[in-house]
Amino acid sequence: MKTIAQIAAELQGYDPQALSAERVNDFLAQLIEPVTETETLPVFDALGRVLAQDVVSPISVPPHDNSAMDGFAFDSAQLRPGEPLTLRVVGTALAGKAWASPVGAGECLKIMTGAIMPPELDTVVPLEFVRAGEDGSVHIPPGVVSAGDNRRLLGEDLMAGQPALRKGQTLGPAALGLIASLGLPSVSVFRRIKVAYFSTGDEILSLGDCPREGAVYDSNRYTVFGLLTRLGVEVVDMGVVGDQPALLEAAFRQAAATADAIITSGGVSMGEADHTKAMMKHLGDVAFWRIAMRPGRPMAVGRITEQGRSAILFGLPGNPVAVMVTFLAFVRPALLRLMGSTTAEPLLLKAQSGEPLRKKPGRTEYQRGIVTRGADGALHVCTTGNQGSGVLRSMVEANGLIVLHHSQGNVAVGDAVDVMMFDGAI
Ligand code: AMP
Ligand code: MG
Repeated sequence: MKTIAQIAAELQGYDPQALSAERVNDFLAQLIEPVTETETLPVFDALGRVLAQDVVSPISVPPHDNSAMDGFAFDSAQLRPGEPLTLRVVGTALAGKAWASPVGAGECLKIMTGAIMPPELDTVVPLEFVRAGEDGSVHIPPGVVSAGDNRRLLGEDLMAGQPALRKGQTLGPAALGLIASLGLPSVSVFRRIKVAYFSTGDEILSLGDCPREGAVYDSNRYTVFGLLTRLGVEVVDMGVVGDQPALLEAAFRQAAATADAIITSGGVSMGEADHTKAMMKHLGDVAFWRIAMRPGRPMAVGRITEQGRSAILFGLPGNPVAVMVTFLAFVRPALLRLMGSTTAEPLLLKAQSGEPLRKKPGRTEYQRGIVTRGADGALHVCTTGNQGSGVLRSMVEANGLIVLHHSQGNVAVGDAVDVMMFDGAI
């Protein structure tokens, strides 16, 4: 396990007072060690979990050559270009049963979708293309079918012995179906990680508290809860912790003793007169950063150890939008890594900006955007208006973040900009 100082020393261009967003992710990739403990779960319980080992297919799927259509199976060697073909029907093959007797020259087999193709036949002409003769024969007009048509090959989906899914993959609905299609009743996944979170600040009210002057209701715990739940981690809500050393110490110790990661909000900015930063420093190996980004600048990152266990700490800024943006930009990829996931970074889309955007080079900006498809079929994006870091409404109205990269300058109307779509993350 590397210390903050070790990682800092190895990271090129590390400046805790002016860290680029990219460097933050590089740093976190060094800090995070993926979980190693695994468990075996029935397929239905594995949705959203991360595979702990490759799933090697014990069988070929499909297990036989079979018909992709309802029609007539025959040997394509009898097809002559531009000529019709008349074949005698010897019987019907239904799905799930093998046709036992041979089908010879001048003959065909009526076959249903999914039924096994006899080895001597290679082509299926769909029912709707043929004309039935009165003598139990079928006429295939010229040009309606070519050799090999409408036949699904053995192992076309998966070959026995080949990896069907890779370690580190998050299991979605398609993966569950694929595992089941291999006849596997259970699957080995990494254990779920546990993430504890609390909000800090004496001005923060919990739901149910009486409003008072200068105080605001806590929204960060709710957004963090939602973001974590969407990620599929086990959440531990620790409430609002007031700005008192004893309360903060107890909260950090309890969180570190039970969770794999701790997320706090508030109390990490420069001018803070509170005890949060001091307690993080006292209890853990923590770096305090000023990140070249907007919204979000201050952030604390490190490890807090308690009773021989250590938890990764993400001390996020207090402003509600900054919490969500720093979560999406840094915490989410870091937690995915902690979960054992090899999921790539979110795919950024390109959209044409519908408005000019002011942007200073030298920091990454995440503006709340509404992406729509224009009459021209292209993607267009506009901001939600007021981009203040406390305006949570901007996150509600947006469907993605416009990512204005570190060295990027002003954007003119019609310029292409990158957008990180919220997709399932929000
Ligand atoms: P701080 O980072 O502690 O200086 O907080 C920055 C701003 O975010 C202040 O206006 C706080 O009142 C506000 N804030 C901090 N924590 C929360 C919270 N949990 N919910 C809503 N607003 C918060
Ligand atoms: Mg504060």
